[in-house]
Amino acid sequence: ATRHFDAIIIGAGAAGMFCAALAGQGGRRILLIDHSPEPGRKILISGGGRCNFTNIGASAANFLSANPHFAKSALGRFTPADFIALVDRHRIAWHEKTLGQLFCDGSSKQIVAMLLDECAEGGVETAFGQAATVDHRDGHFHASFGQSEAKAPALVLASGGLSIPKLGATSFAYDVARRFGHKIVEPRPALVPLTLPEGQALFKSLSGVSANVIASTGKGKFREAALFTHRGLSGPAILQASSYWRHGEPVAVDFLPDQAAGWLRQAKREEPRISLRRALGRCLPDRLAETLGDQLNLSGELANIPDKALEGAERRLGDWHFIPNGSEGFAKAEVTIGGISTAELSSQTMQSKRVPGLYAIGEAVDVTGWLGGYNFQWAWASAHAAAQAIAAG
Ligand code: FAD
Repeated sequence: ATRHFDAIIIGAGAAGMFCAALAGQGGRRILLIDHSPEPGRKILISGGGRCNFTNIGASAANFLSANPHFAKSALGRFTPADFIALVDRHRIAWHEKTLGQLFCDGSSKQIVAMLLDECAEGGVETAFGQAATVDHRDGHFHASFGQSEAKAPALVLASGGLSIPKLGATSFAYDVARRFGHKIVEPRPALVPLTLPEGQALFKSLSGVSANVIASTGKGKFREAALFTHRGLSGPAILQASSYWRHGEPVAVDFLPDQAAGWLRQAKREEPRISLRRALGRCLPDRLAETLGDQLNLSGELANIPDKALEGAERRLGDWHFIPNGSEGFAKAEVTIGGISTAELSSQTMQSKRVPGLYAIGEAVDVTGWLGGYNFQWAWASAHAAAQAIAAG
């Protein structure tokens, strides 16, 4: 027999579990389905196993979307402080690591356990390890999973983006949204290492070396660590820049963001007998200083290098252009940029403007955060917006 619910939520990740818990606690009968037997797998591996569950400075400015205003309403109505209050209520200890990023002191398992507790408190029914198909008839959404059938006047797409298929990512949310006439903003891997072509292969010898840089591309500019890998570039600064990077565009790296203009010419006056490589070695890791020194092709003592050449070297070190030939793709991308277009969703409720009762939340929507707890904050905030509407409806 077909069982009745007030809402069926597909995807028991960050957004789906939180939405189910809140709507359930608001008095609604909720069914939460996931094809994976284990809910919240991305939460478990997030933040190196400690889950960077929010960022205290999160605002719409930290997100990419075709409509940069879309996220404001939900983020404004469920803030990092609201999530911290929940974490505190569950007595989960946390700390700020850097740049407003909050992590569990213990383990990300605590966040999954908290969300499951909250679901239990809301009387949420779960069906994990079950693939579902959905359709819409007679004003209801119908879901079939295993031997079971359920129907509800509301369906929440919370199955995330395409990142890391190994962890169970599928295009389910996009496919269903498309079937209901929604547009999908082209999904691309983001927060992902970039690869370099053979021509820039000498940097492969730097694999494992990192430096604090400013990386910029398009409208993105990030001051954090960059890491050379055997395939190209990674580290927080590059992952952040990757979300703004487009094929064919350069990523500009300032290797010496702390050096004032003219520093090499000043070094020449103060220590005329040292080499360029030695001067670079004072502010960069040795292997990087060596490679960049070789690339600049200025040998001998600083005293014998004309000021103009030193000025040119300073300029290049402050604006080194890498032209990636690609990224490591969805297999390595922490998030997916793009997704269900915000144009046909209400920013207040996450409800479809085309199909009443259909909702989309979390990473499935074309709202993508920076690295640093922003993506979870979007999952919580968009889940809260939808749950409020479902509980009121
Ligand atoms: P998800 O958490 O991905 O959940 C989607 C759920 O839907 C999954 O349980 C999946 O099994 C299920 N599903 C998929 N397809 C189907 C289907 N066809 N049928 C049924 N169920 C389906 N963000 C941060 O803010 N801080 C971090 O520290 C952080 N670290 C990360 C580390 C890694 C390695 C990765 C990959 C991501 C990290 N992120 C982090 C990003 C963050 O995990 C995601 O943005 C967030 O989980 C999105 O939540 P969501 O609920 O929308 O989707």
